[in-house]
Amino acid sequence: MYPPKIGYVIPDSIEEATEFLEKHDDAKVLAGGHSIIPMLKLRIIRPSYLVEIRRLNNLHNISKSEEEISIGAITTHYEVFKSNIPLLSETASKIGDPQVRNMGTIGGSISQLDPSADYPATLMAMDAKVKIKGTKGERTELFKDFAKDMFTPDLNQGEIVTEIIVPNYSDYKYSYQKLERKAGDFAIVGVAVLLKVDGEIIKDARIGLTGVNNVAVRAVDAENMLKDNKITDELLEKVSNEVVKYANPVEDIRGSVEYKKKATKVMTKRALLEALKR
Ligand SMILES: Cc1cc2nc3c(=O)[nH]c(=O)nc-3n(C[C@H](O)[C@H](O)[C@H](O)COP(=O)(O)OP(=O)(O)OC[C@H]3O[C@@H](n4cnc5c(N)ncnc54)[C@H](O)[C@@H]3O)c2cc1C
Repeated sequence: MYPPKIGYVIPDSIEEATEFLEKHDDAKVLAGGHSIIPMLKLRIIRPSYLVEIRRLNNLHNISKSEEEISIGAITTHYEVFKSNIPLLSETASKIGDPQVRNMGTIGGSISQLDPSADYPATLMAMDAKVKIKGTKGERTELFKDFAKDMFTPDLNQGEIVTEIIVPNYSDYKYSYQKLERKAGDFAIVGVAVLLKVDGEIIKDARIGLTGVNNVAVRAVDAENMLKDNKITDELLEKVSNEVVKYANPVEDIRGSVEYKKKATKVMTKRALLEALKR
C-alpha cells in the first residue's frame, strides 16, 4: 500500500525529460501511473525518481490522414476510445474500468508490455509502428520488434515513447473480442481481427492474439487461409482451429492451458463473426 520514498521531477519538455532519464539510470517515466503506482505500492520496483510526462502537451496529439493515424504517447485509453480509429478505439474501450481508462495511456501500456494487455493484439494485427525519442535523436520501429518479451520493451535508458502510428484501416471490417472473468479484469484471451471483404470473398485478413503468449502474436497461417477465399462456416471453423496453434498459454488463476486454448478458438470465431457483421 505504501510506496517507498521517491524523488519527483516535472520536466518542461521532452528534451529535459530524456536528459534527466539518461543521467539517472534508475529513474522511471510516470505517464498514467496505472501500472507503475500499483508496482510502487507493492514495492516491486524502487526507482530513485519518477519523471512525470503527463503535462507534455506535444505527446498528446492525434493526427489522421487517409493513410495513417498517429497517436501521442500520453493519449489516454478513453481518448483513444473516443477517436474513432478502426479496431484500436474498440480495443481501448475494453481496457480495465472507466477510472483506469481515464488515466492510463497508450504509451504507458505498450512500455509496460503486460502479456495480457489489450492493445498489443490490435497493434500487432495493425502492423503498428512506435516512435521513440532519446537524447541522441529519434527512431521508429515496428511494434513487433519493440515488444521484445513480456515486460521488456525495446527502450534504452533515457528513451521515451512519443507516438504510436497505425495504418488507417478505414475500409476494413474489424472486431476486438476479450474474454475476462469479470468486467474490469485483464484478458484471459483477447483476439483482434481486421478483414477486407469484397462481396463474399476475403481479400485481406489480420489476426492478433493477446493473453496466451509472452508477447502478442499475429496468426499468419490462419490469415493466409482466409485470403482470397469465400466466407463459409467451414472456413471460419478451420481458421479458428488454426489460430489455436499460435496460443502457448500458461496455467494461472485465469485458467488451465487447455481452457485457454479452447477459449482462443471460441474468441477467434466470435471476432471473425462480429467483424463480418459490421
Ligand atoms: C485495476 C486495473 C485494471 C487494468 N486492466 C487492464 C486491462 O484490462 N487491460 C490492459 O491492457 N491494461 C489494464 N490495466 C493497465 C492500464 O491500462 C495501465 O494504464 C497501462 O498498462 C499503463 O499505462 P500508464 O499510462 O498508466 O503507465 P504508467 O503506469 O505511468 O507506466 C507504466 C510503465 O511504462 C513506462 N512508461 C510510461 N509511459 C512511457 C513512455 N511514453 N515512454 C517510455 N516509458 C513509459 C513507465 O516508466 C512504467 O515503467 C489495468 C490497470 C489497473 C490499475
